[in-house]
Amino acid sequence: MVARVEDSPRDPVSPLQEAQHLKPLPTDRLRRVEAWGMTVGGPCYVFRPSTVEGILDAFDAARNAGKTVAIKGGGNSYGDAFLNREAFVLDLSRMRRILEWNPATGVIQVEPGATIADVWQYVLEDGWWPPVVSGTAAVTLGGALAANIHGKNNYRAGPIGEHVRAVWLLTPGGDVLPLSPSQNSELFYAVIGGFGGLGVVVAAEIQLKKVYSGLLDVSAFATGRWVETLDRLDELAQSNDYAVGWVDGFALGAKAGRAILHSANYLKEGDDPHPEESLSVEFQQIPTTVFGIPKTALPRLLRPWVRPLTMRWINSLKYRSGKRQDGHRFRQGLAPFNFLLDSIPNWKHAYRPAGLVQYQVFTPKESSSQLFPSLIAMAHEHGFPPFLAVLKRHRPDPFLLSHAVDGYSLALDFRVHGKRWEKFLSLANEMTELALAAGSRFYLAKDSVLSSDQYERAVGADAVQQYRELKSRLDPEGLLSSELLRRVLLKD
Ligand SMILES: Cc1cc2nc3c(=O)[nH]c(=O)nc-3n(C[C@H](O)[C@H](O)[C@H](O)COP(=O)(O)OP(=O)(O)OC[C@H]3O[C@@H](n4cnc5c(N)ncnc54)[C@H](O)[C@@H]3O)c2cc1C
Repeated sequence: MVARVEDSPRDPVSPLQEAQHLKPLPTDRLRRVEAWGMTVGGPCYVFRPSTVEGILDAFDAARNAGKTVAIKGGGNSYGDAFLNREAFVLDLSRMRRILEWNPATGVIQVEPGATIADVWQYVLEDGWWPPVVSGTAAVTLGGALAANIHGKNNYRAGPIGEHVRAVWLLTPGGDVLPLSPSQNSELFYAVIGGFGGLGVVVAAEIQLKKVYSGLLDVSAFATGRWVETLDRLDELAQSNDYAVGWVDGFALGAKAGRAILHSANYLKEGDDPHPEESLSVEFQQIPTTVFGIPKTALPRLLRPWVRPLTMRWINSLKYRSGKRQDGHRFRQGLAPFNFLLDSIPNWKHAYRPAGLVQYQVFTPKESSSQLFPSLIAMAHEHGFPPFLAVLKRHRPDPFLLSHAVDGYSLALDFRVHGKRWEKFLSLANEMTELALAAGSRFYLAKDSVLSSDQYERAVGADAVQQYRELKSRLDPEGLLSSELLRRVLLKD
């Protein structure tokens, strides 16, 4: 049995449901929709339009049935961001065309369901790469913009929203509004990072990054304790295009904070003797077998190992082997470096029959070295050791609901079984209060646990108020909603 977020608000009684003469529900569209982290899911009425007209038809069907509509991209949010149990879900994965591509300028226009994989595989041979990518390439551009994703280069490149030239927003009223930093800018900065509550992004134009090779120059470093780890990551961030850290989530006391850090840089023109080779899709492909075993079989084989004792051993082994490689320099493809997690398809299934919750805090630089060890120690005390801990460096950005701060993020992966959900919630609540006191923010794409009060304290009451005002202007009937939006943003 997997965990259930039972108190996630279902589709509430809304003005939509007060409408007279509701039509019968389209039961032929009932499908189970599940959060990426497998902790929550249930039946939703799923519409998969391929055109803007198809989206409007789904809106009408929802109105007629007195239901709200949640937008879904690739379904890679860990929690309830695209869930809407017993109500409508608009799955945009069929709207994935590349609409325009200019290989001279690197400007691309896409439909919202195009994935990061679709984009990089389309443009790489022309010497371009998405300037900001998440740890999986299965994310759609619509989902990437709604969450305003960050990469391992956030401290330098900012979030994806900073590379958007324009988006076209379909409002629940049926208008298509062009938004950019100079046109309808208030809405631009709210829709990007707005988690699908203000309208549907139906197209986006993005400036890609010029690259002269499909390779990165990568360096690996081992660090011993929290202060050293954070200082070193900061140092690497100042002089490298990418910097990221893996932390041993089982190391406590004197060993707490020991980590393996990686920095990486794009190659300059002329540095790669065979750019035509490394800039090909084939070169970037990740092998589908390991020691002759198809990687698709790995999650099932790994399942018995995803337990505290074995994960402690694996974390320790990883640290010790990383330490032996301290100072090692090598070249790695852009895709394998950025999408390491995609190298094992459906790796999350190794957590079954439990679910996978990621708890990620974004904490100001000055309070991170105090907060992070406390969070990990607290998790251990409550019987939830983090199986994976990842560290990144960030900087603030101008978006209304920004999750970034001038500091670090720590992402902790927990295996949570349904019967321990309440216990986990109480831990998460304690961690959140501590993190809030340290000035932290949170990333809704990963969240499963925040209350609306906690979210408001993190992002600020003014930002929440401004979002709600835009919402009542663009969507007065409250058509667009989701379990996440009702849990953290749209509650009074
Ligand atoms: C393995 C893994 C690694 C990850 N690594 C990172 C990382 O490094 N950095 C990072 O920032 N994130 C990361 N994420 C999180 C992921 O990038 C976000 O959850 C992203 O939003 C998922 O995009 P999606 O297309 O799957 O959208 P979904 O998860 O389906 O939806 C996400 C949100 O976008 C809204 N939405 C989707 N399409 C539209 C649209 N067209 N118009 C308006 N709203 C829309 C939905 O309503 C929902 O609120 C990771 C996720 C996974 C599973």
